[in-house]
Amino acid sequence: MKAAFFHGPNDIKLEKMDDIRELDGDSKILRVLSCSVCSYDVRTFRTGSFKVKPPVILGHEICAEIVDDYNGPNCSVRSGSRVTIYPIVPCLKCWYCNSTNFNLCMNLREIGSTLNGGFAEYIRIPSRVFEIGGIVPVPDRVSNEEASLIEPLACCINGMNQIKPMNFESIIIIGDGPIGIMQLLLLKRYSPQIDVTVIGKIRHRLEVAKRLGANRVIAYTEKDQLDSYKELKEIEGSIMPNLIFVSNNNPSSLTLAFYLANKNGKVIIFSGIKNRKEYSFNGPFNIDPNIIHYSQISVYGSFSSNPDNLREAMKLVYDGEINLKNLVTDTFSLDNIDNALRTAESFKGLKSIINKFDF
Ligand SMILES: [Zn+2]
Ligand SMILES: [Zn+2]
Repeated sequence: MKAAFFHGPNDIKLEKMDDIRELDGDSKILRVLSCSVCSYDVRTFRTGSFKVKPPVILGHEICAEIVDDYNGPNCSVRSGSRVTIYPIVPCLKCWYCNSTNFNLCMNLREIGSTLNGGFAEYIRIPSRVFEIGGIVPVPDRVSNEEASLIEPLACCINGMNQIKPMNFESIIIIGDGPIGIMQLLLLKRYSPQIDVTVIGKIRHRLEVAKRLGANRVIAYTEKDQLDSYKELKEIEGSIMPNLIFVSNNNPSSLTLAFYLANKNGKVIIFSGIKNRKEYSFNGPFNIDPNIIHYSQISVYGSFSSNPDNLREAMKLVYDGEINLKNLVTDTFSLDNIDNALRTAESFKGLKSIINKFDF
């Protein structure tokens, strides 16, 4: 089979593998149908990741076809059926696993990061993922490409769950990428009345956000607009606790989030942040603790998802409550992986997806 191996920063090579290496004594082989490029893949491709030991195959937003029937307590799938895959392999021994918070497992391994992922013709999935309900069937109506976006949508659902009950009328999403757009769709589905502002850098993505229901969009580069947005709220006397999603990997978004947070507001850090060294405690990332104290700001984190979130995401898409079709903008064959990564990196469309593997 062919696979795109990450060997180190800026070095991904398409290679032939005679055999899929045995990673785990007990695992199943699936045929990959679609694998979407996550900003994590782009970041790892450019700078590596503390988690990744090359060579490894990246890609964790996967739709695949079952090769052999599987029948178990939390999963029953026939060969030829399509599924999406929970990309975390938990230890099942630690406190977090015992409380089914697999995303927080103390010994977690991740498909497409520490284990080989979906930028390949075939993928080997440890049986444990099947056993914890991490294999979610894809209904006929949902395309391969949409199915590969179920994983990031599940992550957004996990993020929403961290700040429930959601008694906010005013929400800001900093980030106009696929994650920010998915959060917008979830919020508007939750309550069309919620006032959502999307702040971003990319004009065409902000236009999509506006079209999909954002009450207003503001270009991040337009500092005046951001200031007047903050002032406007104050003048109108409409200031109220707000909720702010940091949904992109720019360190300055964190500073902006605290600048925009109202009293009793909540900031939820959704994205991994790039160039962490640049904003170590004495670097430019500088948050005044007094803002957190005197304005009573709460800070939340959200990482990955749980199998239940994947099921909920699939149901929302199947029921037509969330439409992911607008996010599928660029598709590539595996031999074009370089191009797919570059397209995602340059924010050209919204989602770059590998959906052809035979060439
Ligand atoms: Zn991802
Ligand atoms: Zn664990």
